[in-house]
Amino acid sequence: MRQQALRLCLVGSGISQSPSPLMHQAAMQSTGVEGTYVLRDLAPDDIDTFVAELRQGRYTGCNVTAPYKALLAERCDLLEGDAESLGVVNTITVRGGRLLGTTTDADGFELALSGASMWPRQGATALVLGAGGAAAAVALALTRVPLLRLRIAARRASAAASLAERLQGSGDIATVPWDRDAIAATCAHSAIVVNATSAGLADLPFDPRAVPEACSVVDLRYRPRPVDVVTAALETGHRASDGLEMLLQQGLLSFEIWTGKSAPPGAVRTALVRAVEA
Ligand code: NDP
Repeated sequence: MRQQALRLCLVGSGISQSPSPLMHQAAMQSTGVEGTYVLRDLAPDDIDTFVAELRQGRYTGCNVTAPYKALLAERCDLLEGDAESLGVVNTITVRGGRLLGTTTDADGFELALSGASMWPRQGATALVLGAGGAAAAVALALTRVPLLRLRIAARRASAAASLAERLQGSGDIATVPWDRDAIAATCAHSAIVVNATSAGLADLPFDPRAVPEACSVVDLRYRPRPVDVVTAALETGHRASDGLEMLLQQGLLSFEIWTGKSAPPGAVRTALVRAVEA
């Protein structure tokens, strides 16, 4: 049976440079799926109209990015998987006027790190910098490592505490003060540090060059490349990665949710790198 053409979009604010359309167009092309993927850069006042458009079938699905991940989760009729635990969505499927929401960020992060052999081992310590949407997804993913000690540091201590609270019951989770000494002391026995803030090297109380050799460094930012935190970590011989592979993996998972098809990562990665580095 011929699949209905997809009508997809990314909804967010300040997204004019997003590489998502090119990524999903490459996924469609390589799987022979027809469809479109456009950007909807919206102000908060436009969200009601957008939700009505979704329900009326203007789109078959959408991705959601900052700052609407929690707001649109509230508008969904059903939240599945991690979306239910986190109260955020990055993927919505429209079915018979109903909005089914999920998030592929945590799984995308795990796939990206596993592919780079950077996924922490049982009993390791992991430090997450930041307490926003991406930090929550990363933290949730990390709680799946058996006996992991998860540490969270954010410039607003209340945001770090609230994220730790939300994950309560998922293991050994604690917050760390947002200062150089406390972060360095945690890094000293961490297997991985993840920068899940939108801040770069100059604004972080964290020096990737000073972490132990065995500690991997991940920065979820993917633009501009090379990402400064990653460059600094690589210079000192650490394993390090930016957020491009996570972006790819979460996108491939969204595509699979909408179509039931796995797009070939190689072809989509090539399109994504071209879009990000353009
Ligand atoms: P949010 O706005 O939800 O959270 C941003 C976080 O960064 C907050 O904790 C915020 O703190 C903190 N922050 C911002 N500026 C600074 C600063 N100067 N110093 C210290 N902390 C700061 O954004 P997201 O969580 O969605 O995104 C965070 C980053 O992750 C972005 O760079 C984004 O591009 C990237 N990302 C990558 C993805 C991928 O697939 N690779 C997926 C999603 C995000 P406060 O609350 O105090 O403002």
